[in-house]
Amino acid sequence: MSNFSVEPAQYRKASPLQLLKNIWGYDGFRPIQEESINAILGKQDSLIVLPTGGGKSLCFQIPALLMDGMAVVLSPLISLMKDQVDGLKEMGVEAASLNSSLDWDETRETLDRVRAGRIKILYIAPERLRHQKTLELLKQARVTFFVIDEAHCISHWGHDFREDYRQLGSVKSLFPDASIHAFTATATQEVQKDILDQLQLTDPVVRIAPIDRENLTYRILPRDSASKQVLYLLEQHAREAGIIYCIRRDDVEKISLELNRAGHKNVPYHAGLPDEVRRKHQELFSQEKVNLVVATVAFGMGIDRSNIRFVIHTAMPKNIEHYQQETGRAGRDGLPAACTLLYSGADYRTWETILGDSPQKEVMMEKLNAFYRFCTEPQCRHKAFSSYFGQTYPKDNCDACDYCLKEMEMVEEPLIAAQKILSCVWRVNQRFGADHVANVLAGQTNENIVRWEHDKLSTFGIMPDSAKSTIRSLIEQLVGQNYLRRDPEYSTLVITSLGQSALKGKSTPVLAKPLAKEKKKAVEKERRQRQEQSWGPMDQELFAKLREKRMELAMQKSVPAFIIFGDKSLKEMAVRKPKTVEAFAQIYGVGERKCAEYAEIFLSVIRG
Ligand code: ADP
Repeated sequence: MSNFSVEPAQYRKASPLQLLKNIWGYDGFRPIQEESINAILGKQDSLIVLPTGGGKSLCFQIPALLMDGMAVVLSPLISLMKDQVDGLKEMGVEAASLNSSLDWDETRETLDRVRAGRIKILYIAPERLRHQKTLELLKQARVTFFVIDEAHCISHWGHDFREDYRQLGSVKSLFPDASIHAFTATATQEVQKDILDQLQLTDPVVRIAPIDRENLTYRILPRDSASKQVLYLLEQHAREAGIIYCIRRDDVEKISLELNRAGHKNVPYHAGLPDEVRRKHQELFSQEKVNLVVATVAFGMGIDRSNIRFVIHTAMPKNIEHYQQETGRAGRDGLPAACTLLYSGADYRTWETILGDSPQKEVMMEKLNAFYRFCTEPQCRHKAFSSYFGQTYPKDNCDACDYCLKEMEMVEEPLIAAQKILSCVWRVNQRFGADHVANVLAGQTNENIVRWEHDKLSTFGIMPDSAKSTIRSLIEQLVGQNYLRRDPEYSTLVITSLGQSALKGKSTPVLAKPLAKEKKKAVEKERRQRQEQSWGPMDQELFAKLREKRMELAMQKSVPAFIIFGDKSLKEMAVRKPKTVEAFAQIYGVGERKCAEYAEIFLSVIRG
């Protein structure tokens, strides 16, 4: 790791934009970044909501370099701290962290450097603030401002409440001269208010960036066989990096094994694995030695790998906030990435059981319901996302979800389809589950149907043209849109008051059905063509060579590959093929420091 050769005094004379260009090698700010930097420079408390990949780190790292004293970043994740500190050091910035993973010598060295005023950015875990010694250290050091990362963790209304965050409420009174800046990727309006109250921010600047990530394409499909569907998706993402999320540890093990057997090399990750195995698997993925991880939600926080091209959920996550965070890990480099969710009504039950008697159950169930509606209502996914977070989506067609890409076919007469299903539920006396009802409607006999004489019902076989899987999907959509509900104890389908009103023809659901095979093929072909176009006239062979070189350097330095350069930078090199150091300096993500260190190395690959 290189030592700190760039003198901080040099930075202080620069403007934020100059630092962005010279140190980070970027051309301009993204939405909200400049405003949040100015709030810190103006010593005004702030709350900044920027989606994952939106570029939060820069917002506090730049002011930290421009101001006297030290910035303290409270962050819940050790692995994230490590990556950020490594990244900063790589750019020549004096940064360090204090957390439980360091040994005594490392800790002492950091403490000495803090006392000597040699650190510009110190990352610490929130629980450290419980220790008097840490508070004394920070009192002695000149802390200019505090950053509360993942600030939503302070709120009970949030999806990730952490007890250790509660004590952050006292930072304001303990350090009255330092300003406080809360950052999060996800916060509903309720959570935003809670953050402001609990941190006791004074007259704060509040800026909420558009939650939408336009480079992510969302697809939500009913699940019939997770393994088969995942295998199918992996074929479309050959050699790309991706995360496959499952709810349960058992599912992680099972799918991971199946994929490895099918030749898709991957590592599993869940909280049941020993610490060192988890660490190793995370490292293999971060360092790009493995491209696939099959994981529970335990995986992901602190994963900065910027070239994740797809995220697959094999089941419904428990709320929209989690989904936003988990899918947000894809495409941080700004290039297109795909997010596919496979859901089934059974997932709802699974979560209900997992939540058990948790004191948070009521809030959680409400969020789960909102997610279920999100899955089952055919509509623009980007729009639905934005409106959940209280934002208006500006476009009529996002061109980046299954609905807008016309990968779903709308049911032409949704009221009639709904009435057929609802009357069947009525005829079986609201005492049977979705599978049985679908069998009756499709006209499929089995032992149960004969025993209950449901083959004699007027609704038996009234949807002969629809596959059973389609009928199942329509039933889920009716549940999601509250025309039907499931009895919590027996999972039997029950008609709601909205369902009654549909039976009378007074309200109509929005229903979609899966595309027929030929149509699906045509849509996929078009999609592939588009994807290829988005990569432009890139020299694929050169790109592969640049990646190899990056990997070699990353291994030498024991840092993740993206810390050397992101895919977007390599892609630009492979398109523009710079021949001189000056031209190399113009590439996205090439700051002065990286130019000095890497220009010749990468130029020789390009020339070769
Ligand atoms: P977040 O913490 O909000 O998820 P990061 O701070 O990790 O996001 O930033 C995501 C990626 O975007 C990083 O590779 C970062 O260097 C890059 N980035 C941030 N700001 C800009 C910018 N203004 N222009 C180009 N790239 C940027």
